[in-house]
Amino acid sequence: MLAFFEQQVRSYHYHTQVKFLTMSALTQTAPQTSSVFDQLAANDHEQVVFCHDPHSGLKAIIAVHNTVLGPAAGGTRMWTYASEADALTDVLRLSRGMTFKNAVAGLNIGGGKAVILGDARKDKSELLFRTFGKYVHNLNGKYITAEDVGISTQDIEYMAMETPYVSGKPESMGGSGDPSPFTAHGVYMAMKACAKKVYGSESLAGKKVAVQGIGHVGEALVANLAKENAVIYVADIYEDLLKAVAQKYKVEVVPTDSIYDVEMDIYAPCALGATLNDDTLGRLKCAIVAGAANNQLKDEKIHADLCKQKGILYAPDFLINSGGIINVYYEIIGNYNRQRVVEHTERIYEYTLNLIDTAAQEQVNTHEAAVSIALKRIAAIEKLKRTYIA
Ligand code: NAD
Repeated sequence: MLAFFEQQVRSYHYHTQVKFLTMSALTQTAPQTSSVFDQLAANDHEQVVFCHDPHSGLKAIIAVHNTVLGPAAGGTRMWTYASEADALTDVLRLSRGMTFKNAVAGLNIGGGKAVILGDARKDKSELLFRTFGKYVHNLNGKYITAEDVGISTQDIEYMAMETPYVSGKPESMGGSGDPSPFTAHGVYMAMKACAKKVYGSESLAGKKVAVQGIGHVGEALVANLAKENAVIYVADIYEDLLKAVAQKYKVEVVPTDSIYDVEMDIYAPCALGATLNDDTLGRLKCAIVAGAANNQLKDEKIHADLCKQKGILYAPDFLINSGGIINVYYEIIGNYNRQRVVEHTERIYEYTLNLIDTAAQEQVNTHEAAVSIALKRIAAIEKLKRTYIA
């Protein structure tokens, strides 16, 4: 039997589905189903493109979730997925998250994301990324890409040879550079806001923080935490990264599968998604979850409610990890100014305080409160666009 991806590509080669947004559908979670169109319909994705190029070995999926606020923007992830169906699920969830993230951060861009199926340590080549750049270009600016897991500024540079619809370009090319330090800074500001609510002080000195994943964002977060004398635990699947971080900062390395059992105040997931689930929420003893990883809740309703019931303050991922896309946004609009990016990123502190208050007032979990803020802004701006004023 043909693999899932091959079936899609052979049948349609360039397979798209266009569907306009209905606000109610934005709040649904994609069902675990084998039907591709059911998955797209569940969350109102506008368009999904399967990219297949045997010459370069490229297998990628680009998902445009919603473009009410502007062109869809969000990074490209390169990952070795267990199955092609997992890759589709990931890109659909990630692109929907970008719609919410860009909305709550006050940016005039919609939500999109891409995944390249492959091993970021073995399968990278100029040809692969330039080919991917051509597929991005075919969307004519409806989707603008940037870095995500497994993608470096060098890879972005190759994509930029084929399309202008790439952001997070190296500073040497006039771009805004790696967005990760801004993402980390925003997460750090959100962590301080959570600490203020939970402990009455925003200081993280002496607080035990477990950082899962010390890649681009995780390491930058460790740097922020180390400056403030937090007690830092780190885990990663790569020994070389752990060694490098342990040489630079005072951290305690813990095995990947034990990170959830560490005696900690704050859990900072900075690897992949779905680490807030039935198993981990039975083990985590923290008061706060604040990290950069996208889609941390395995089930948005069940696990956000479970955090609330257990007295864990969950800082919604898409609300607090927007520093990187804020950086990219100012590059996209052609008015890049680092000071402005820092100021905008630091607003995440206020966004987080307001969100916690809103969730308490509305007696909903923090994830629901954040989604509702995003949906209100999208609905308001959609109305703004109904009238043409010369
Ligand atoms: P990265 O690839 O540089 O780092 C991810 C790290 O997580 C890697 O070092 C990897 O080895 C590690 N990892 C993977 N599985 C793990 C596991 N089970 N246990 C421990 N470590 C594990 O990626 P990044 O750019 O640092 O992004 C991290 C997360 O933050 C991702 O979920 C990404 O989508 C999200 N995010 C990143 C940005 C950004 O600016 N880079 C912006 C917003 C959100």
